Amino acid sequence: MIVLAIVVPCYNEEAVLPEMTKRLFSFLDDLAHRQLISEASRVYLVDDGSQDRTWSLIAQQVAIDSRVHGIKLSRNRGHQNALLAGLLHAEGDAVISIDADLQDDLNAIEQMVEEFNVGKDIVYGVRKQRDRDTRFKRMTAEGYYRLLVMMGVEVVFNHADYRLLSRRAIEALRQFREVNLFLRAVIPLLGFSSSIVYYQRKERFAGESKYPLRKMLSLAWQGITSFSAVPLRMITVAGFMIFLGSLSITVWAIGIRLFSDQAVPGWASTVVPIYLMGGIQLLGIGVIGEYLAKTYMETKARPLFIIEQQIPDKNNEPMKDAHPPHS
Ligand code: UDP
Ligand code: MG
Repeated sequence: MIVLAIVVPCYNEEAVLPEMTKRLFSFLDDLAHRQLISEASRVYLVDDGSQDRTWSLIAQQVAIDSRVHGIKLSRNRGHQNALLAGLLHAEGDAVISIDADLQDDLNAIEQMVEEFNVGKDIVYGVRKQRDRDTRFKRMTAEGYYRLLVMMGVEVVFNHADYRLLSRRAIEALRQFREVNLFLRAVIPLLGFSSSIVYYQRKERFAGESKYPLRKMLSLAWQGITSFSAVPLRMITVAGFMIFLGSLSITVWAIGIRLFSDQAVPGWASTVVPIYLMGGIQLLGIGVIGEYLAKTYMETKARPLFIIEQQIPDKNNEPMKDAHPPHS
């Protein structure tokens, strides 16, 4: 029977934590009871540098139930990095990642496990409808998925970070040295056989969203610039077209000069291109700078997270970091 690990990133989630673990365990108990998963299945709660009582609540849960494991990051590193910390530390045959607010329907876990049992290494949870989201959120999110696809980034439509990964997939993920992490585009790169499970997304049952517009935009930007060079290519193509255009304008101007006696209008043809080219050059430099900054960060290969503490205490074991194969 499979040992399942559930990874839950938690950032200032004191309002949902006790109820979340309760719901999670009653669900897992049911699965174990029906012999679908092992009794040894566990839950990893990753505290992403919360400022509230999240960590002490996690410690409480660990004390109550030996199947709970707590991982405390030394500071807030964001959802994606917290998730990776949990995934790379979780033990078990398959690992499922889910948000702390349980907006993603737990019942999908059963189907994920079924898919895993028929040999799938990656099972994506995909939202059926977005009727619980605001119009704005729905339109921007779906528009964004389309934009990613246009830019040549491989993602699963309407899939966020609710998924099952097999042990093999996790070990493959370990080999990626991403500093600008956008998991939902990294996972398809792992390969292996995958499938999709549909579910209904619910509302947060307590607490507030930890994803303000600022973080959402930053994640969206990450997704494009970490996986696609299309913006750069667009600059190149635009530059080439403008070059061709200006060549023909030159030919035209010489033609006028040679074969007619009309005065060449001077001002507009001098000033307009200066502004135009200035703007395009600045934009180009900006985009190139963006990629250069990324290269710079990747070269540094900073660890994505630092584990401050683990419970039950794992001090005797050598500390794993984000990229063991290289370190
Ligand atoms: N989260 C995190 N670090 C952050 C922000 C969020 O670990 O800096 C976690 C949060 O605790 C939750 C998940 O990421 O488990 C998704 O966040 P949230 O539900 O607030 O996002 P939304 O569903 O509103 O997009
Ligand atoms: Mg949420």
